[in-house]
Amino acid sequence: MTPFMADRLKHFGTSIFTEMTALAAQHKAINLAQGFPDFAGPAFIKDAACAAIHADLNQYAPSQGVRPLREAVARSWARHHSHELDVELEITITSGATEALLAAVLAVVNPGDEVIIFEPYYDAYPPDVLMAGGVPRYVRLPEPDWALPVEALRAAITPQTRAILLNTPHNPIGKVWSQAELLLVANLAIEHNLVVISDEVYERLIFDAAVHLPIATLPGMWERTITISSTGKTFSLTGWKIGYAVAAAPLSEALQRVHQFMTFASATPLQMAMVTALDAGEAYERQLIAFYAARRAELVEALSRAGFGVAAPAGTYFVMADGRALGWNDDVAFCRYLTTTLGVAAIPPSAFYHDGYQSGMIRFCFAKKPETIAAAASKLALLVPTDTHDVG
Ligand code: PMP
Ligand code: GLN
Repeated sequence: MTPFMADRLKHFGTSIFTEMTALAAQHKAINLAQGFPDFAGPAFIKDAACAAIHADLNQYAPSQGVRPLREAVARSWARHHSHELDVELEITITSGATEALLAAVLAVVNPGDEVIIFEPYYDAYPPDVLMAGGVPRYVRLPEPDWALPVEALRAAITPQTRAILLNTPHNPIGKVWSQAELLLVANLAIEHNLVVISDEVYERLIFDAAVHLPIATLPGMWERTITISSTGKTFSLTGWKIGYAVAAAPLSEALQRVHQFMTFASATPLQMAMVTALDAGEAYERQLIAFYAARRAELVEALSRAGFGVAAPAGTYFVMADGRALGWNDDVAFCRYLTTTLGVAAIPPSAFYHDGYQSGMIRFCFAKKPETIAAAASKLALLVPTDTHDVG
């Protein structure tokens, strides 16, 4: 037991991303575990950040974010969703989506309130709810097609339910939620007067014919939804941590009350650089999607050849691959083996279930250079099916 640690942290372990990245480094494994690009971010955005630093835009930004970036977010929403945002009242720039998520939960959840979280989930959601004194209620998406279990969702809603945490496109499963599913969630939220916190950080990373729809744009949802995004994913600069939350004025005001005391403001020159990114970044986005589509195809093929059950995801830069045909039922044991013996690190998705549920799947990230995927593919080709490693 760590001396002086507050009770509310007792059940939080080290993030699986930190753990697997450390293990990958220790064993010099190819890191397809933590989601981040291993290639350089775009020069035009890095130049814009340097220009902002040299122009001495280096003091505190306004707490809600620099106005040019809020204007650029509004232009992006107008372009993509035909929705006009109020630049003064409806946009908050945060230090990554991570801050926006905690700020959103703290903004709306009272101690004892229940929050619905779909499993598998992004690992920050349960700690965010617990730090607010809330109670997570889990609804499991059934593999292999991960369709919304409407009746389970309905059954999870009680008079104490305050909010639903949604993630589309979804990490780790790569699903882009359909309009029909979002309508079902929206109708339940309206019926039970719930807030929806919608994590849409992968909104631009979608493939083929998939269409991303913000739930906030559905009828009756604007006044009850906080939409969260992150420029880090769209522009391959995850370390800059420039995220944002978009919501109707009363929800934005609540979120900003938290944000002003959590970080007050995010790095000014990096915010300024993201104005250039959002306004001029569509050519980059198109190129990035084409690049990721090729990496996705290569990784899916390598995994399939190695004996995994795998389908190409509709969005995000993650692939879920079923390792059971290879003789592995315990994903933690399998990921340790893959990292330490085979030399390819991956994430065990049981970390994304409150009870450590074993879906049989392993998560791999394809936001990597062609040579990284090729090197991982040669190692995966050496994988031998086994029936001797099925216990952890
Ligand atoms: N939500 C999801 C689903 C994510 O995958 C990530 C990526 N780490 C985040 C939130 C956090 O985003 P950021 O790096 O901008 O804090
Ligand atoms: N979002 C990244 C992932 O899912 C990790 C971010 C982090 O390490 N906190 O891999």
